[in-house]
Amino acid sequence: MDSAQLDATSTVAIIGGGQAGGEAATLLRQNRFEGRIVLIGEEACLPYMRPPLSKAFLAREIGRDALIYKDAIAYEKAQVEMRLGERVEEIDRQAKRLVLNDGATFGYDKLVIATGGRARPLPVPGAESGNILYLRTIADVEVLQPLMESGRRLVIVGGGYVGLEVAAVAVKRGLAVTVLEAAPRVLARVTAPALSDFYERVHREAGVEIRTGEMVSGFTAKDGRVASVHCANGESFPADFVLIGIGLVPNTELAEGAGLNVDDGIVVDEASRTSDPDIYAIGDCVMHAHHGFLRRKIRLESVPNALEQARAVAASITGRPIPAATAPWFWSDQYDLKLQMVGLSDGYEELVIRGDMAASSFIAFYLKDGRIIAADSVNRLGDFMAAKRLVGDRMEIAPARLADESVPLKLLMRAAAA
Ligand code: FAD
Repeated sequence: MDSAQLDATSTVAIIGGGQAGGEAATLLRQNRFEGRIVLIGEEACLPYMRPPLSKAFLAREIGRDALIYKDAIAYEKAQVEMRLGERVEEIDRQAKRLVLNDGATFGYDKLVIATGGRARPLPVPGAESGNILYLRTIADVEVLQPLMESGRRLVIVGGGYVGLEVAAVAVKRGLAVTVLEAAPRVLARVTAPALSDFYERVHREAGVEIRTGEMVSGFTAKDGRVASVHCANGESFPADFVLIGIGLVPNTELAEGAGLNVDDGIVVDEASRTSDPDIYAIGDCVMHAHHGFLRRKIRLESVPNALEQARAVAASITGRPIPAATAPWFWSDQYDLKLQMVGLSDGYEELVIRGDMAASSFIAFYLKDGRIIAADSVNRLGDFMAAKRLVGDRMEIAPARLADESVPLKLLMRAAAA
């Protein structure tokens, strides 16, 4: 069935009540889809924002209500049926219907899979001991929060964003925090060594013990609870509790079970369409053809990406032009540092620092073939908007000019565009 054939009697079902699913549901109505929209979400609450889980919500600076992405009224107005606390167990593509956890079934004309991902487990001996925790959901934070008491020893496995954000919250609260990172530096997958050094220094100054090149090989427990963390090099670290933050596993099992193409994510085209033309997929669970900025296949894990794909799928299903994918961007809050990143820096040839790293106010530009391919901005909220344009247009600006703060970025941009 083509989107043109959808009418007021058609049903679009969405599996997954994260930001991608929640956004797609209301956008379909905004795009004047007149049929039935049903969102089935396993978590029993309205779609919420995960970024604050490791930041303000963990720190108890905001409550649960502040996490909610859109109030119930937004879904009511858009006449979206919210089936929360229900799980889809199977997609029957032949019959075009879904099987839910209670055995109920219902049909769809178009289906959007927005099942996100789950925390990647660490499969080492002792990993099932008590007080070894992960952070993906509100429920996870609610287990973590009561343990965050001053003087307790927290070992964090993984020096990525989530691990470092939790470290920042925990050390401020008076915990003894150790971060164990297997790579030679923190944030190794996403930033240049200079940025990793910067973040390692900031954390160490705050009192966090950062240990890189540490491969966790197991845990020992006492009375069922973790007591120490062991590394392959023979070192051990005592712990009252452990947080594992080593990435995400995309929830692709439903798609796989239905015979859709899956390759470290549900494979979709520029229109967010899977190998079945009536089934789309968006958000963290997707390996998509980034037909705009990146021009390659990629699975991105970020809110801007989830929302961009929601816009694409709503346009696609309602037969509207699909907006080109923009340069991916992301943010991370640690202490009083607001990190904002745009583009992907892998393969860069030159790094240009504009600003003052010692004063924690700078932008790092990544250049390839003389062009700006990515930027990491620390505490430069105003300049980040300009950096997004510079990266988005892959502008060519001489490194010396880029580093020269006496010329505003906006002027550089205009000069380069002229
Ligand atoms: P999800 O948010 O994972 O939602 C998927 C939903 O589908 C879940 O509720 C799941 O329970 C449900 N589901 C799965 N299977 C089924 C099923 N079979 N039936 C019914 N429901 C199902 N991004 C940023 O851009 N900036 C940040 O600073 C940032 N910080 C983060 C901090 C943390 C701690 C975490 C965990 C993530 C962070 N992210 C951040 C990533 C961002 O939150 C995700 O990219 C975004 O939430 C993806 O949205 P999604 O809707 O694709 O998936």
